[in-house]
Amino acid sequence: MSAGPRASADGAIPQSSPVESRAVRQLCHHDRRLYWRKVSGSASTRPVSATSAETSPVVEELRARMQQCWGYDSFRPLQREAMLAAMEGRDSVVVLPTGGGKSLCYQLPAVCRDGMAIVVSPLIALMKDQVDALTQNGIPAAFINSSLSTAQRMAVADRVRNREIKLLFAAPERLVQDRTIRFLQDTAISFIAIDEAHCISQWGHDFRPEYRQLNCLRTAFPQASLHALTATATEKVRADIAGQLGLADPEILVGSFDRPNLLYRIERRTDVMIQIREVIDRHPNESGIIYCISRASVESTSATLNSLGYRTLPYHAGLEADERRKHQEAFIDEQVDIIVATVAFGMGIDKSNVRYVIHAEMPRNIEAYQQESGRAGRDGLEAECCLFYSGRDGKTWEFLINQSEDAGNRARSLAALAQMDSFCASAKCRHRQLVRHFGQDLESENCGACDVCLREIEPIEDPLVVAQKILSSVFRQEQRFGADYTAQVLRGSRNKKVLSNGHDRLSTYGLLRDESDQHVRGWIDQLVAHGYLVRSGEYSVLTISDAGWQVLKGRHTPQLTRPRRRVAASSESDKWVGVNRELFEDLRRIRQEVAADRGVPPYVIFGDVTLRELARLRPTDPNRLLQIYGIGERKKREFGAMLIDRIADWCRRNGVDTDVMASRASAPQIRPKPARISAASGQYFELFDSGLGIDEVALQLDRSVGTVCEHLASYVHVRKVTDAAAWIRPETVERVEAVIGNIGCERLKPIFEALNEEVSYGDIRVVVACFEVRHGD
Ligand code: ADP
Ligand code: ZN
Repeated sequence: MSAGPRASADGAIPQSSPVESRAVRQLCHHDRRLYWRKVSGSASTRPVSATSAETSPVVEELRARMQQCWGYDSFRPLQREAMLAAMEGRDSVVVLPTGGGKSLCYQLPAVCRDGMAIVVSPLIALMKDQVDALTQNGIPAAFINSSLSTAQRMAVADRVRNREIKLLFAAPERLVQDRTIRFLQDTAISFIAIDEAHCISQWGHDFRPEYRQLNCLRTAFPQASLHALTATATEKVRADIAGQLGLADPEILVGSFDRPNLLYRIERRTDVMIQIREVIDRHPNESGIIYCISRASVESTSATLNSLGYRTLPYHAGLEADERRKHQEAFIDEQVDIIVATVAFGMGIDKSNVRYVIHAEMPRNIEAYQQESGRAGRDGLEAECCLFYSGRDGKTWEFLINQSEDAGNRARSLAALAQMDSFCASAKCRHRQLVRHFGQDLESENCGACDVCLREIEPIEDPLVVAQKILSSVFRQEQRFGADYTAQVLRGSRNKKVLSNGHDRLSTYGLLRDESDQHVRGWIDQLVAHGYLVRSGEYSVLTISDAGWQVLKGRHTPQLTRPRRRVAASSESDKWVGVNRELFEDLRRIRQEVAADRGVPPYVIFGDVTLRELARLRPTDPNRLLQIYGIGERKKREFGAMLIDRIADWCRRNGVDTDVMASRASAPQIRPKPARISAASGQYFELFDSGLGIDEVALQLDRSVGTVCEHLASYVHVRKVTDAAAWIRPETVERVEAVIGNIGCERLKPIFEALNEEVSYGDIRVVVACFEVRHGD
């Protein structure tokens, strides 16, 4: 799947690019994760132990400053190595996943070294956020870009001249101006960090021509080491970055691309509003992003959700710049929890506590998916990424690619699209597939954090037979029809078109009668995604490929899956253990007030990890505050008294213990364990899923009809079922609903009485549940 070279089983990379030719790469185990490390300039296979202490005075200094200024007590994987390169003035390329902590890799050395570090950053919003956050931690930093007035620029220049600043952020086009360079040459530059360095490479997904001009930095600042940082870089991009910047035998540090705190789910799109709401409802009061392909679907999704009582804002390139900015800020400042957006949204969004990312449609390739879904859970706490796809999304992208790209790029884009399609349709661990795409692997067999490993989808028992039924129907229909039609034939539909074509006389007619339309359509999409069927032309007609013929001849068995309805995973996780949720909400409010006061985003004041830890340990002693994740000396000085007052007061009023002695939560990396409903309820749910009626379930589980109806009512709520007709006679449903229309459904007894006690409580309960779901309750 990956474009880059693969690791063989023993961890050796079979081929290497010129830039990395002298590199020795080894697979290191650290923190239950894997990562690659290049040992610069060495020809031996010296083992690199990431867990060996490697303490030195420099490391100790870094650690002390990190604790003092940021309130963090340990390095994330590869941070120490990256920081040492900056401390010792060795060029480097650092590839860490989103949320991996790239910023600290240059911020902390900048604080520890003499002189000023320059940070190149592509976006004004990104620079501003970082400067705000650094300032909150008591670190002098500033930016220069087009948003500053002349007076503000002069003020920054003065501070630089007076050597007051430790970090100066600049846009590439500003930095490379002769005037700027001459000015900066007069000051002591410790090193230069280039953030989002993939923008330098035209092989990357976000090439920016102005980044190319950075090749002048080496000659302009010969003393300063250069450090390129990015979250996405294939080997080719890495080599390009190093070449373009003229890096001298750089240290190349590539972290694990796995994001263990993200729970991935990929489902076929059936009723997308219901699917989206299920996710949102699992995350009340939490931030989430919903991605759609087109502006039109952004607008309609946002409007529909708003009409259903959610508060969302749209974001796409068609909005006025001012409106776009307002919507983005409302999301960042937590005035609104949900943003519905095209891919135009996200670059430069550092918001750390996005708890879910929904793709209402399929992204165009795996890199884009990794980037967009990666905006969830940057703080390391559990977060959920749900993708709802349909075979049609591929067609939409194909159309857009054919329209907008020249012939050279087109083939590559279409190939990447096909990979995305088959990623969606496959039944292999999502985490593993994603990291393999970037040439890495996972240690454990079961990731415990994707729909496949959680067994929410399962392989069907007889994939060969099912595939042959579908393929042979396509053949007998003379390969002239699309997927919907084929499903109708296989399910024995009495549709006019099927009958008038005489396809009710085909031997394949009704062969999959017992399967739901959703399943049959899903299998057809899977056969397309795996290349057994080809969808072509304006009408998406299905034809059989060579591989498909191998299946028909029984020489090859494809993999087909069906969803097992999931049972309400909630956002409850290890990371909430012991946290007083109400206090957490109270602290969130304070955070928002403080942030609004200072005109910075809330997460710049404190991250969610810090708030959860405060709401768990509930410290009232100032000295204990420094033990809280994310509170360094500056924040203790500034907010300590207020936090302690507020926590003590809140705990007294609510009768809650303070100063809980608990071991400090370690850096958040534990996988989410989705809570599942009890096994007993699970049994009911499975039987309802398989289409059994109330009496049949009662018989199977040896329970009373009343009990079954109670479970059915919760099933209706969880699954958002709107129609009770599958279980209760239509006349009965109609009678109950007429009464509900008159007297409401607050209580069941009045309804029971109004119906002359002729309808059971169980039936009423189920109809009421459907009624509530329909009315968004
Ligand atoms: P990236 O730029 O790689 O996406 P960031 O630099 O934004 O990641 O870091 C993500 C979050 O992790 C930030 O809130 C940052 O302060 C925090 N962080 C970084 N390094 C550490 C560390 N060593 N310990 C704890 N938190 C860290
Ligand atoms: Zn998995």
